[in-house]
Amino acid sequence: MSGPEQPAPGILRLTCETPPPPGWPRPFFYLLGREKLLLIDTGYREEQTVSRLQSLLMRNSARLEKLVITHGHVDHAGAMAEIKDRFAPRIFAHEMEKDLLEARGLALAVDEWLTGEPVIESEAGPLKVLSTPGHSPGHICLWLEQQRALFTGDLVVGEGTSFVGPPDGDMSSYMRSLQKIKQLEAELIFPGHGPVIREPKRHLASLVEHRLLRETQILLLLKQGPATSRELETRIYAGLIHPGLYGVAEMTVMGHLVKLEKEGKVVSETVGGEKKYRLLVPLPF
Ligand SMILES: [Zn+2]
Repeated sequence: MSGPEQPAPGILRLTCETPPPPGWPRPFFYLLGREKLLLIDTGYREEQTVSRLQSLLMRNSARLEKLVITHGHVDHAGAMAEIKDRFAPRIFAHEMEKDLLEARGLALAVDEWLTGEPVIESEAGPLKVLSTPGHSPGHICLWLEQQRALFTGDLVVGEGTSFVGPPDGDMSSYMRSLQKIKQLEAELIFPGHGPVIREPKRHLASLVEHRLLRETQILLLLKQGPATSRELETRIYAGLIHPGLYGVAEMTVMGHLVKLEKEGKVVSETVGGEKKYRLLVPLPF
């Protein structure tokens, strides 16, 4: 957690020391308030985060009252148990994220499983919980209406795109969640990775466009003949991304394929032991 930034009044933006795997972006998390603090996400599990939080709290005579988890991946929820042990905040996560947190041994730290879209009070203002599945089943965003600021976890990242694919992701839900947060007309987005987004409208429009473009690209490739997810991934991403991300890119392609299959636009069939996808509909282009 190198030096915290203060991107808006009453909001500190923190990161951790653990380097992410090659090609992956560093996680960011946020501390809200002045005396009774609320933390959104924790970064990776590491002792430095806990000790730096400790000195930050002592310096400001503050107390960590609440911790809200946007979703259960280890770069966002990894230090939950350690933070609970040291500061005993009340910990919130969405009930739809329970399985994922259980699988990572983190569910026991949660005090309150959120259902629906409640409001969580903070010194920076009331935080409205928004259910935004897609990156993971119980992913939430937090809407600080008072500052027209949205904390997006991994639904929207500051640079590039978030991973949406099996086993945790669902592209159809992801697209619906993007449309949902577009309606808010936020003025600031505090993402779980990458820089603070100061032009949310443009950023969100380009994200939606990017996903639709990728979908079109997959359909066009399938027009040339059936292909496996790996073949599609190679044709789309070769030379464009860090080799450490090829596996993730294939899963992202899978995410699109699952959506297209649900929509009846493609079908999968096993040919010679390989799962190939075939186009089912004529393309208007
Ligand atoms: Zn994630």
